[in-house]
Amino acid sequence: MTTIPLLNRTAPDVADVLVIGAGASGSVAVKELAENGFSVVCLEQGDWTPTSVFAGDKPEWELLRQKDWHPNPNVRAGAADYPVDTSESDVNPLMYSAVGGSTILYAAHWTRFAPSDFRVRSLDGVADDWPFDYAEMLPYYERMDRAMAVSGLGDDPAYPPGAPYPLPPLPIGKFGRKAAEGMDKLGWHWWPGPNSIASRQHGDQSPCVRYGACLTGCPQGAKASTDLTHWPQALAAGAVLVTGARVREITVDAQGRATGAVYVDRNGGEHHQKAGVVVLAANGVGTARLLQLSRSTAHPDGLANSSGLVGRRLMMHPYGAVVGTYEDDLESWIGPSGQAIQSMQFYETDASRGFVRGAKWNVMPTGGPLGMRAGYGGRPVKESWGANFHRNVKATMGRSFEWGIIAEDLPDDTNRVVLDGELTDSDGIPAPKIIYTSSENTSALIDFHIARAVEAHEAAGAVSTSVTRLMRDCGWHLLGTARMGEDPATSVVDQWGRAHDVPNLYVIDGSIFVTSAGVNPTAMIMALALRCVEHLISERRNQEVAV
Ligand SMILES: Cc1cc2nc3c(=O)[nH]c(=O)nc-3n(C[C@H](O)[C@H](O)[C@H](O)COP(=O)(O)OP(=O)(O)OC[C@H]3O[C@@H](n4cnc5c(N)ncnc54)[C@H](O)[C@@H]3O)c2cc1C
Ligand code: SF4
Repeated sequence: MTTIPLLNRTAPDVADVLVIGAGASGSVAVKELAENGFSVVCLEQGDWTPTSVFAGDKPEWELLRQKDWHPNPNVRAGAADYPVDTSESDVNPLMYSAVGGSTILYAAHWTRFAPSDFRVRSLDGVADDWPFDYAEMLPYYERMDRAMAVSGLGDDPAYPPGAPYPLPPLPIGKFGRKAAEGMDKLGWHWWPGPNSIASRQHGDQSPCVRYGACLTGCPQGAKASTDLTHWPQALAAGAVLVTGARVREITVDAQGRATGAVYVDRNGGEHHQKAGVVVLAANGVGTARLLQLSRSTAHPDGLANSSGLVGRRLMMHPYGAVVGTYEDDLESWIGPSGQAIQSMQFYETDASRGFVRGAKWNVMPTGGPLGMRAGYGGRPVKESWGANFHRNVKATMGRSFEWGIIAEDLPDDTNRVVLDGELTDSDGIPAPKIIYTSSENTSALIDFHIARAVEAHEAAGAVSTSVTRLMRDCGWHLLGTARMGEDPATSVVDQWGRAHDVPNLYVIDGSIFVTSAGVNPTAMIMALALRCVEHLISERRNQEVAV
């Protein structure tokens, strides 16, 4: 069992740097800044989650997953969560509010962008190119692989060569082997899935014991959530973390420069934390919300929003899934969950398909009896409960697995995060509203990929397949709402995450993505956060506002 690091200090009156959000990206920034001698304060609306509170090693874990550990903040409705109006969205945004942020619940699939993902405008004539390329990101990816205990097998032919992963791959299990058999028959690419889950002891991280409950937090401390991988070192280096601190507004001076943030504590008390530089790491929804909440005379349309793009271009990776059922016992309740294998077979554009870009596929276990019912039911209630429940569970549990499809989501100005006119959080702060429709390109892409995934199951010997065309609870990836770029008229931050309009404001979370790629984004979010914060550190003497 891991324990919560108790080392903490009183916040200075004026910090060198204030980081908002202690999740994937915020953790990287706080650790780097503290280890480089900055006085750094982090405000996080959530709390610590010691491994003992997770559901995965308790008999009722699947029940707890339906409410207290649900990834949708509207269902979970915890003290730390803010609600989200999703009445005009095809997809529900998912997240977790805690030290470690959404990495507490994430599945730990750890896939890099492909080289083509940085150049979609040049290659496919859509969206925009990134201001740098894969080679530029490679060293940051490799450093993050080590920090996040990534287990995987190197030399995947879908990628250019690079350093081996720090830990050997996790077992792909019987269901992974079954999926691979199908892919081999078709001659399609597959590779053991890289996961940020320790396959061996890695520092304080224990090896995975395969509960399969990764999506409700890892009771073993094997999954690399940033409360384990970054916060102990950040606190030891002198960082100050304030939990239960919900930021309401980023404050500015008469020139429009950031001066800190106002936050509300759990007792409703308001505080102003002052700082020389403010770094936003509150995720693609929380950051867009905060920028829009921070209106002032200098920034009447919201902070850093002279382009009008704050909140726009929201990308959430619509997710399709095909579950195949087999006669054999595939032990598909065993974890991790986690991807057993991944495929990049249909990742690149093929003009003959009638859409651009593609998707990564991942094989995942299907879990226990309630998971079988809730996640993949898709059948009328009458067929899914009573005697039919037992029959269905017997036929499917342990004998089925999912091919999941992470569809590349192209940016669109009309898909956006705005402030809700009525809904507020428990502190009376306006909640975000999501307006989001998946595009025709995405629909065509998902249809094509689903048809191929059905073929992959059939080739592997599935006796039946069940298709979920677009999962509503699939907004795990919150991207693009404060995009980076070189032109202040068409982007919010520069390639280092620095706001064009506010020289001492940085954004380093998934908001700054130019495009979404068709892979899980956290390897990129954390590598990019590292790149941005290292630049901030190296430029400390040249900042317009000294730090
Ligand atoms: C169920 C689930 C499964 C996932 N699986 C994968 C996967 O397999 N692979 C992958 O790559 N990605 C996965 N993800 C996505 C991954 O977790 C995110 O991409 C990543 O955590 C985002 O990092 P971030 O720093 O942008 O935001 P987060 O990690 O979400 O952190 C943001 C933090 O900011 C805090 N915050 C927000 N607003 C405020 C405020 N006003 N005041 C104070 N604090 C605030 C929040 O409480 C939160 O702790 C998954 C996500 C979920 C929910
Ligand atoms: S399968 Fe491994 S990573 Fe997932 S919850 Fe269990 S021990 Fe943790």
